[in-house]
Amino acid sequence: MKIRTHPRIGAICVGDEVYSYRYHLFARVEAVFPAAVCVKIAAIGGVHPLELTLIPQLWRADDIENLSVCRYCGGRSDLSLERETGIPFRVCAHCRIVPPQEHRYVQWRWW
Ligand SMILES: [Zn+2]
Repeated sequence: MKIRTHPRIGAICVGDEVYSYRYHLFARVEAVFPAAVCVKIAAIGGVHPLELTLIPQLWRADDIENLSVCRYCGGRSDLSLERETGIPFRVCAHCRIVPPQEHRYVQWRWW
């Protein structure tokens, strides 16, 4: 059986920042798999003293958003932050000049 890469995973690189709609967390990608990414989440370990440990987690492609690319076209150049939602989505210079109400026409993957 051939393993097909999830369309959202194809554009994700190690080191990209992703947001999980499921956990409402941000994390940096440690490894990329065909339908999921591995991230490390800071969690409190010991009680005395309180200790932060990094716990690896697998996040499904369906649950995440890549914040390291333009949210509309997937480009990686000349990105700036879009501040409307509280989630630090990035937008490239080209998509920034498209009025927000027309954004759906330049979306190419899941928007
Ligand atoms: Zn763009």
